[in-house]
Amino acid sequence: MTVNLLGLDANALAAFVAELGEKPFRSKQLLRWVHRAGESRFAEMTDLARSLREKLAKSAVVSVPPVISDSVSGDGTRKWLLDVGGGNAVETVFIPETNRGTLCVSSQAGCTLGCEFCATGKQGFNRNLTTAEIVGQLWLANRLLAAASAGERTGLSEGAAPGERTGLSERVASGERVVSNVVLMGMGEPLLNFDNVVPALRLMLDDNAYGLSRRRVTLSTSGIVPLIDRLREECPVALAVSLHAPNDALRDRLMPINRKYPLRDLLAACRRYLERAPRDGDAAGEDGWPSMPDKHGYRPGAPRDFVTFEYVLLSGVNDSEHHATELIALLEDVPSKINLIPFNPFPGADFQRSPPEAVRRFSEVLNSAGIVTTTRKTRGDDIDAACGQLAGQVQDRTRRIIRMEAA
Ligand code: SF4
Repeated sequence: MTVNLLGLDANALAAFVAELGEKPFRSKQLLRWVHRAGESRFAEMTDLARSLREKLAKSAVVSVPPVISDSVSGDGTRKWLLDVGGGNAVETVFIPETNRGTLCVSSQAGCTLGCEFCATGKQGFNRNLTTAEIVGQLWLANRLLAAASAGERTGLSEGAAPGERTGLSERVASGERVVSNVVLMGMGEPLLNFDNVVPALRLMLDDNAYGLSRRRVTLSTSGIVPLIDRLREECPVALAVSLHAPNDALRDRLMPINRKYPLRDLLAACRRYLERAPRDGDAAGEDGWPSMPDKHGYRPGAPRDFVTFEYVLLSGVNDSEHHATELIALLEDVPSKINLIPFNPFPGADFQRSPPEAVRRFSEVLNSAGIVTTTRKTRGDDIDAACGQLAGQVQDRTRRIIRMEAA
């Protein structure tokens, strides 16, 4: 069986290398080649023994989902639609800003949870993405963005071999990555794909792979309470929660998952998540993180001392000053930041975007209560890459592919 190396975290890769009869240090070399250098061709991994390269060529691949489309918005936001097989497609979005570049990654093709305001939820659920498909989004973005920055924007398409671009590996390896932050906020509920998402997170954090700090990797959940606890134990990263309503009655309506995990239980899980956040005076390692390595070599505890709550503003539904006041009371005991998101309408949506005046008033009420509140700029509207629009057109595009294949 051929193994896709993008799906193996450090421990799994070490086991694979051992199975090939190789010494443990080879797995670290391989990790660096695949993720740091973005190299997919074993023949180019020049410091590996020829015998190992030959074994790898027979038993392994470095393979990413083919790119169906590659769009760039007028504001620089870039969106890739990726073919994950079986008529399914997922989206990955890169958002460049002055001092960082954030990649929004999908974890499932579709979503089971059916939130009323979400284009992905309206699409239904197809399947969980594999670890390789999740990490592959970051691998691909780093390569394509490095190529773009070098004036080689070619747009990888199905069957293209990314490693074939002259000197690209060297440029990626020398730090030309522009993805500085990853958010699991694309299609899907990442915690419902826990077993594939956690190895992907470990690779994102691994110094031999992408080396992102825990503060720069954010997992956004609709509030799967037992799995928030499990994440805290197994691989804590920055936590964001899609809240969108200040009381159970409204949240039950907007987000059906609230009927299973109501606000009281969700906020208790958020408080538990923060319990081991680093405090002033903690002994810190070089990365500012207290040193208490777990069995995987990772140090537990939340990397930030607050939870980000996302709140999409729906005109006349959840955007009044009264709702803002309720929200303040709700979050009284949870160190919070609030990210207000203007709703992005999509075909068939039952909601309207709140007027700017309502957004401003809502934000002012929260800020005046001392809650740090930001309003997300809408980015990538012209390519349907804005929040809540992911996969809004996937089905049509997928059907087009099926038609193309049938032709
Ligand atoms: S908002 Fe998130 S959890 Fe809800 S349907 Fe959309 S992708 Fe799923």
